[in-house]
Amino acid sequence: MANSNESDVLIIGGGICGVATAFHLAQQGERVTLLERGDIASEASGVNAGGLGGMGWGNNPDLQSYLTAGSFEIFKTLQLDMGYDIEFHAPGGLQAIHTAEQSDFARDRVLRLQSEGYHAELLTAREARTIEPEASESLAGFVFLVKRGHANPTKATVAFGQAAAALGADIKTGHDVQALTQQQDGSWQVRSSQGEFRTRSLVLAVGAWSKPVGNMLGIEIPVTPVKGQMWATEPAPPSIFHVITSTESQFDWSSGQGSRVSMKSDQQPPDDFPPELTHKGETRITRHLYGGQSRNGEIIFGGDRRLSGYDYTPDAEGIEVNRGQASEVIPLVGRLSISRTWAGLMPFSMDGKPIIGKIPGYENLFVVTGLASSGFGRGPMAGKLLADYIHTGHPAPVLTEADPARCITFK
Ligand SMILES: Cc1cc2nc3c(=O)[nH]c(=O)nc-3n(C[C@H](O)[C@H](O)[C@H](O)COP(=O)(O)OP(=O)(O)OC[C@H]3O[C@@H](n4cnc5c(N)ncnc54)[C@H](O)[C@@H]3O)c2cc1C
Repeated sequence: MANSNESDVLIIGGGICGVATAFHLAQQGERVTLLERGDIASEASGVNAGGLGGMGWGNNPDLQSYLTAGSFEIFKTLQLDMGYDIEFHAPGGLQAIHTAEQSDFARDRVLRLQSEGYHAELLTAREARTIEPEASESLAGFVFLVKRGHANPTKATVAFGQAAAALGADIKTGHDVQALTQQQDGSWQVRSSQGEFRTRSLVLAVGAWSKPVGNMLGIEIPVTPVKGQMWATEPAPPSIFHVITSTESQFDWSSGQGSRVSMKSDQQPPDDFPPELTHKGETRITRHLYGGQSRNGEIIFGGDRRLSGYDYTPDAEGIEVNRGQASEVIPLVGRLSISRTWAGLMPFSMDGKPIIGKIPGYENLFVVTGLASSGFGRGPMAGKLLADYIHTGHPAPVLTEADPARCITFK
């Protein structure tokens, strides 16, 4: 579409959810405009750890499997078939087991996952060291998740934007959206800091800013910003070959120390915090860990997730706790100094589930948000499912679990 201010679908937000939705809509021949107030990938989608995938589709794929395994295939296509070098690499993931209690928990989980057709296996520390030589020999073992991988978050998000533009989508940066008005005929008028736009359908893909953008329409989208922070070493020779995580947080969350454990066990009532945080207020309830080595040689790790409004300042004490945990798993890390730290804001829904679909009470208004701490690895398929919904007028059955009607209210 050649820079017209009219479109079939206008998307607000140039993170992974917005650009993936734009790409899949453009593939289906829709005239798409995307408005991003910064640059593409300037928020969470550009500063995350790039961890992808999980355990495969399983025998009876639920929403989580669709989003994770489906996105994994889309990333693969971008790298292998479409010529975008997004540093996609899928060596698998190693999840450290620190204690005997975590060992029992991990064994039960792996057996359950295997019986459901997912890919997971248990390794002793000795076995793990045959594929990850720097792994600690004193750990209780590892869960090996063969379907895990990594991509460069900025390169991948920018590539989706470029792929959408190559199909005719009009990707506009530096457009801060400030007002949304529905017209009599159901179409939308959108005002940004740089102009006015007219569109049939409107998509909110604004991540941690879902609440303020929802407020422009008088609706409450229950998504809260959660600060995630990371750190990196100077480039080092190739020494870490898998995506590295820890069982500790999953164990603590499942044993009730954190709040609820997201999509696979959603029976408990909501409380004032979204699920799967490392802190409640100032109190640490668990340690969380993810990371690995990037193509440029930097070793990067992160973990903490806490509520602190729209604050981007990395918390030094949290970085040290995270570095300590990373060193327990990969002792080499403890001998390297930290060269930089950063933080970003993740969009957490209050019930831990994604919010993808039509917003009730309005015509032609859609949302894709709430992908929390794994939105990079789940965003491409979230965008595809929403694009299919908008294009066909029908939601895929698997989206029932993500229905915005369950949680979006009028103010
Ligand atoms: C430190 C950290 C590590 C992470 N690690 C991983 C990981 O390893 N794997 C994984 O899968 N996920 C990870 N995540 C989570 C993942 O990054 C997010 O879930 C995902 O990027 C969210 O994508 P999004 O498109 O919803 O939001 P965003 O990327 O935040 O994009 C939303 C966009 O909307 C724009 N916007 C907001 N308001 C307006 C407005 N009024 N007008 C115009 N534009 C607007 C913003 O500028 C922003 O660019 C991590 C996150 C962080 C912070």
